[in-house]
Amino acid sequence: MRFRLLLVLMAIDKTRLTEVVKSAGKSLTKQRCVIIETLAANKLPMSAYELRDQIKITEQNLNISTVYRVLDFWIRLGLIHKIESANRFMVCSDEHQHQFHVIQHCTRCENVVESCELASQTKMQLSHEFRALENQVIEIKGTCLDCQANTST
Ligand SMILES: [Zn+2]
Ligand SMILES: [Zn+2]
Repeated sequence: MRFRLLLVLMAIDKTRLTEVVKSAGKSLTKQRCVIIETLAANKLPMSAYELRDQIKITEQNLNISTVYRVLDFWIRLGLIHKIESANRFMVCSDEHQHQFHVIQHCTRCENVVESCELASQTKMQLSHEFRALENQVIEIKGTCLDCQANTST
């Protein structure tokens, strides 16, 4: 568990960020950088307000609408995911190009782990009847290993 968490934190690689942003024809601004880096450094997914408050301490005062706008920017590029049920955000830790992103959300401790393995198994056949949007997040709710251990003792 700890090890997987570390992988999530390390997943934010400046070179990769620059590549993704460039290939989308956009630029990596200071605000965009600060927001994704702050989110990546946090252990748990954050709300937009928590993110703003954290950045206020270390960097600068950002308007909440700016925070949302930048989050949307990263969400569209697939590098940040919104956890709809919790209204929180996390940095993508799936470096493979999968059609969907699958996150396992522990509803007790709010820990979220992205699973490349599950994402690679989740494919939708291309069909004329229904075309799925890219970079969608599939959320699976449950109880993480740590929380399972805590309840059994
Ligand atoms: Zn992802
Ligand atoms: Zn848990």
